[in-house]
Amino acid sequence: MAATDGEPLQKWKYLQNILSRRGPFTDPDWEPGMTSLETLADMKILVIGAGGLGCEILKNLALSGFKDIHVIDMDTIDVSNLNRQFLFRQADVGKPKAEVAARFVEKRVKGVQITPYCGKIQDKDEGYYMQFGMVICGLDSIEARRWINAMLVGMVDGDNPDSLKPLIDGGTEGFKGQARVVLPTMTSCIECQLDMHAPRAAVPLCTLATIPRQPQHCIEWAHIIAWEEERKEDTLDTDDPEHITWLYNKALNRAKEFNIPGVTYSMTQGVVKNIIPAIASTNAIVAASCCNEAFKVATSTAPPLGMPEESNYMMYTGDDSVYTYTFEHQKKDDCPVCGNLARKLDVNAKSTLEEFLESLAERPEAQLKKPSIRSEAKTLYYQFPQSIEEQTRPNLKKRLEELVEDGEEVVVTDPAFQLPFKFKLAFRQ
Ligand SMILES: [Zn+2]
Repeated sequence: MAATDGEPLQKWKYLQNILSRRGPFTDPDWEPGMTSLETLADMKILVIGAGGLGCEILKNLALSGFKDIHVIDMDTIDVSNLNRQFLFRQADVGKPKAEVAARFVEKRVKGVQITPYCGKIQDKDEGYYMQFGMVICGLDSIEARRWINAMLVGMVDGDNPDSLKPLIDGGTEGFKGQARVVLPTMTSCIECQLDMHAPRAAVPLCTLATIPRQPQHCIEWAHIIAWEEERKEDTLDTDDPEHITWLYNKALNRAKEFNIPGVTYSMTQGVVKNIIPAIASTNAIVAASCCNEAFKVATSTAPPLGMPEESNYMMYTGDDSVYTYTFEHQKKDDCPVCGNLARKLDVNAKSTLEEFLESLAERPEAQLKKPSIRSEAKTLYYQFPQSIEEQTRPNLKKRLEELVEDGEEVVVTDPAFQLPFKFKLAFRQ
């Protein structure tokens, strides 16, 4: 690679050292030499997200010898990103992240081509994802991770080894983070591991509207319902102190009404802006780990995370001194994406269908916000189309025991996911 396009070899010397000799853990079949450098340069790699993790990932890949990098991000640059998303400057505020990040890295690392796409991952189809050798995610959305995971698992065709695209996923929250590698259909997937990432206060709308239980519910009520009713003509600006003060006072009054203590101005800010505390150095650690795995997967110089029956999940925590743990997360037979059995859910037979559907948003193993449900025999509740919604709405008030048998399988669908989820409802004694 380095020699063919006239680059000074010196620049890639450290890479050549790794690629031209065998390490203590290198696979015996691996041949040292220039082939690996070329493989790296020729591999088309997709980065999803150009934020805190994405900036780090793009920079690391470019400096690791990857030359054909694509990046997807739907966001534009906000002034609050500048403290850690180091590829962006003041003058870039308002511009698309993918575009600016791509141009910055291309300018700094000569010979690298970065193709940005400013939009949603859902805009692209199987044909698009099929062109890549590998996908790396640096996202803060579980929904987007689940979507790309389901897409990559669905693409695997047993007769075509090229259809298997390793998925490397990084995530951080404050001082904690993780890096994991998924070999779709072969090893535990993102959906198998969903319960490792409990939802952050996914509160059903009707809880907000009727019986709030926590201060956050009152704030969400002010944010989603009160604002819409009373200030519809104003676009909510979460950086405008007047807007936050208004929401804070609304939430405070509602909290008083329901005897809920704890609503504060800063909590209002946090809930409304959905702030996930981001720490630049945690992003750097996790991104570095993801890119090391990408390098090993691409070159086979050393065993990567994620090979079948090996560790596939590295967790990092820095909030109490420092600790990392690497383990094998097992594939689940009842995974709705890569397994084939229905997942067992313990339910209360006396609870209503409505309560059950609301609980799906909060259950760590489901996390579905707009579920429609049918049993083997009949449609129980569909959110769409409107005519069926109206027809099935009376079922919402019925108890589960009136609608299904103990142990019966139900199929739940949600507009955010292409795949149906099979659950086996077990009545709690
Ligand atoms: Zn799975």
